[in-house]
Parts: sequence; structure tokens; C-alpha cells
Amino acid sequence: MTASHLGIYVWAIGVIAWFVIRYPYARKARRTATVRSHGWSRERILLGVATIGLFVVPVLWLATGWPRGLNYDLNYAAVVVGAALYGLSLWLFRRSHKDLGRQWSASLEIRESHQIVRAGVYRRIRHPMYASFWLWALAQAFLLPNATAALSGLVAIAILFFTRIDFEERMLTEAFGDDYRAYMRETKRIIPGIY
Ligand code: SAH
Repeated sequence: MTASHLGIYVWAIGVIAWFVIRYPYARKARRTATVRSHGWSRERILLGVATIGLFVVPVLWLATGWPRGLNYDLNYAAVVVGAALYGLSLWLFRRSHKDLGRQWSASLEIRESHQIVRAGVYRRIRHPMYASFWLWALAQAFLLPNATAALSGLVAIAILFFTRIDFEERMLTEAFGDDYRAYMRETKRIIPGIY
């Protein structure tokens, strides 16, 4: 098997794993009451953008071959790096779902009896799930042998992350006041100790 084919298979397995990890939490989330929902239409658009970049563009390329002119060959080193990033991403994705528990929601919401989570993967960074999305998009860039399909994930996650992050932290500061402010002082956003 060529490295390019291997990269595509690894990517596809990762996508399936992502859905398998999320499915039980998405089911539970539907049964969890929401007290407040923030920026509903903005959030729908952002989730749509993320789905397009991480899923629709790569699948369109796989299904139609378009844009063929931007194909290139991978080497095995790129696949190994991509697979390692993918593994790390899926591990962090699963851990953050576990640690966030019933406070999780796909868009910005405050749940009934919502509590700030500061333990587990939330101990040093405030947004481990978004960190896992960045890792996923980076893995995609290494694994897909086509410039558009490789980079669409990074563009989409950049849009999602930088549009949402201030709204999310403002929402949590409004809901939890000094508790969340203290948590912000003690943690970084997505890279421990750095950002
Ligand atoms: N930004 C976080 C969570 C993503 S899920 C991460 O990347 O890991 C989005 C929901 O998580 C938001 O609706 C918000 O209410 C909730 N949330 C974010 N950080 C939280 C925290 N530290 N404790 C509890 N809930 C949190």
C-alpha cells in the first residue's frame, strides 16, 4: 500500500472513532436540561463550518477526486506523524468528554445545575476539547494527500475556535463570576503553560 492510501485509511478510521466516542455523550446531552443557550444561530453556523472543513471537503475530494490538480504523494513519515497526532487527539477528545460529563454541549449552553470542571484534562487548560480539534485538524493536514482536503480542517477549526472562544469564556464568567476568573488565572486556553 502506498503512503498516500495509508494516510487516507488512517484518516477514515479516525473519523469513525470520533463518532463512536461522541455518540453516547450526544445521546445523554439530549436528555440534559439547558438553562441558557448563547448565540444559537451563530453556533449553528460555526458547527456547520467545522463539519464542512473536517468532513465534507475531504469526503467530496475522496468521492469525486476534485480538485485533482492539488493532489500530491505522501511519505510514510508524514503518515506516522499524522497517526500519532490523531491518536493524541482522540485520547484528549474522549478524556474531555469524560471529565466535562453532563456540562458538555455541542453549542454554548449553561446546563441545569452546571458546575465548573477543573479536574482531569481541565486542570491546566480550559479548552482540552478544542485542543483535540486542533490536533485533529493538524493530523488531517498530515494524512490527506490533497492540498484542499488537507488544509480545510485547519481553516474550519481556526474559524470555530477564534469566533467562539471569547463568547464561551464570557458566558462562563457571567455564569460563575470569580470562580471562573480564578480558574482563568490558573490555566491557559489550549497549550499548557503557553497559550
Ligand atoms: N471549551 C471546552 C468545552 C467544550 S463543550 C473544551 O474545549 O474542552 C462546550 C460547553 O462546555 C459550553 O457550553 C460550556 O458551558 C461548557 N464548558 C466549557 N468549559 C467548562 C468548564 N471548565 N466547566 C464546565 N463547563 C464548561
